[in-house]
Amino acid sequence: MRADGLVNQFTARYNPGQDKNGISVMAQRITPKPGIMDIDLYVGGDSTLAGTAPVIKLSSNENPLGPSPRAIAAFRDCADQLALYPPSDHAELRAAIAEVHGLDPARIICGDGSDEVIAWLCYAYAGPGDEVIHTTHGFSMYRISCLAAGATPVEVAEQNRCVDVDRILAACTPRTRLVFIANPANPTGTMLEKAALARLAKGLPAHVLLVLDGAYTEFAEGYDGGLSLVESHENVFMTRTFSKIYGLGGLRIGWGYGARQVIDVLNRLRGPFNLTGAALQAARAAVLDQQHVAHCRAENARLRELLRAELKEIGIPSDRSYANFILARFSDAATADAADTALRAHRIIVRKVKGYKLPQCLRITIGTEAACQSVIEVLTEFMKGQG
Ligand SMILES: *Cc1c(COP(=O)(O)O)cnc(C)c1O
Repeated sequence: MRADGLVNQFTARYNPGQDKNGISVMAQRITPKPGIMDIDLYVGGDSTLAGTAPVIKLSSNENPLGPSPRAIAAFRDCADQLALYPPSDHAELRAAIAEVHGLDPARIICGDGSDEVIAWLCYAYAGPGDEVIHTTHGFSMYRISCLAAGATPVEVAEQNRCVDVDRILAACTPRTRLVFIANPANPTGTMLEKAALARLAKGLPAHVLLVLDGAYTEFAEGYDGGLSLVESHENVFMTRTFSKIYGLGGLRIGWGYGARQVIDVLNRLRGPFNLTGAALQAARAAVLDQQHVAHCRAENARLRELLRAELKEIGIPSDRSYANFILARFSDAATADAADTALRAHRIIVRKVKGYKLPQCLRITIGTEAACQSVIEVLTEFMKGQG
């Protein structure tokens, strides 16, 4: 009792209260910049469930086939060089990316995941009073990085879960600095066709930088990630990642491609050693193994169609997806929650997307064939119970 009393006295004196986020009022005397406390923490896909039995993780759009064996070998080869600082210029990796995609290596910048590239863009081009456009179901890092930079996020409505070019163009003001869209988009999986994308690039004022987030480019057969638009417009920038089709999410490697002057700006923000030596070597080996990429793309397309068609058959529609997941639609939020619970009971973890204003949906990563079959079996049982 006595000890409790002392603790309570201490708490009352030094921790006089908490705000709605549970942060002590004392701590608020050290005040962050405006906007920082408006940031909702990024919520990633769950990876564990209670208990020890293995789980099927379909919540983070990871590649079920893993990286190229050559990338794994390159990573292992780095084990005896851990005392050395990595190269700062990323020249070898940029050369390999440039070779594979036919790009100018001087206009490539490599980041600690494409998330870091997104953050640089916001820090470099948007500050207090500036506006950054993202769309209703757009990837959450755009808003987070915008607020971190002190700028104002502007949310533009989509049309049936697709980015709406006209609404974006109408939302531009003299204050607009950046427009972020992912193509294909996450979590909807939908995509703007070439003509619509070109219309967006052409229609934006010259003071606005259009960022085409190409995290899922490789899954969309025949799409160049917006490269041709980057080449023809100084104010179009493309980001790419090694986290998705390359199966290297754990190593954190992304890159951006844009006009020389934009790359020059971003390089001023880049930490000199932002990528580890092992990440650089593994990514280089990965990008040079396009056979593995083609195999992953083909398997993904086959299983994505299988999953889409089987779920449609049992009354769970989804938009045509161009990525490595589908967005399954249920009749309402309660049904989506119940389906999620049913999947978890079978140790399958998918992604709830309430935070993306899609409470009636679940985003399901295309896993192995066995994983897809398990999802279909569980949801078939589940839908029978829905009568
Ligand atoms: C997964 C994803 C990324 C990639 O992030 P990294 O930091 O490169 O792992 C970027 N944009 C979108 C839309 C994504 O879904």
